[in-house]
Amino acid sequence: MSILFISDLHLHQSRPQITRAFFHFLHTQATQAKALYILGDFFDAWIGDDDDAELPQQVADELFALNQQGVAIYFQHGNRDFLLGEGYATKAGMALISESTIIDLYGTPTLLLHGDTLCTADKDYQQFRSMVRSPQWQQQILSQPLAARRALAKQLRDKSQSMNSMKAEDIMDVTPDEVVTQMAQANVTRLIHGHTHRPARHALSINGAPAERIVLGDWHSHGWCIKASIDNCELISWPIE
Ligand code: MN
Repeated sequence: MSILFISDLHLHQSRPQITRAFFHFLHTQATQAKALYILGDFFDAWIGDDDDAELPQQVADELFALNQQGVAIYFQHGNRDFLLGEGYATKAGMALISESTIIDLYGTPTLLLHGDTLCTADKDYQQFRSMVRSPQWQQQILSQPLAARRALAKQLRDKSQSMNSMKAEDIMDVTPDEVVTQMAQANVTRLIHGHTHRPARHALSINGAPAERIVLGDWHSHGWCIKASIDNCELISWPIE
């Protein structure tokens, strides 16, 4: 039995090959697992749980079926899908977890983050983040009609495709000091996160003890996951057809 971690699939109707690769992952690797942790930016955009588009419905059905097979599913928000709520989580058979979650991973205290809070050098993004994570802002957005929210999401997506400044948040790397601070505060020797699209394993030292930061990759040319078991923790990738 293993525990799996994925992030940054950026599921979107314009990238059906990624959705297909994800469903294949669910039907193969994930059915063998005890738990699946989704660490944010699972969807490329989220306009509200009342979105009646086909993709979120299909994904919910697939996740729900996996959960029915006895696999626990946990979801942590990313900077793209932070509006995903309890309603959708329930429909997908998954539990929402906090933006900073500590688990005991086969005896190793492990901090789980999407990763955007580690990128403190990007002041503009951190300011944007405080705004969009406020309940008032979210309420104001979610109270708009679905069509208006859909148009807004498209506008933001087009903008992020055409503007490097919008891309910067995705490619900016973590601030090393912030990594140490958050790991020390959480009292962990392992950190798992995504967001930066720079998959790697980094050895570091927390309060003099050896520690590790494992970064998940985004699903683009390859799928990525971390597979943890009682005696192993691997960062795995495979090509997407
Ligand atoms: Mn992200």
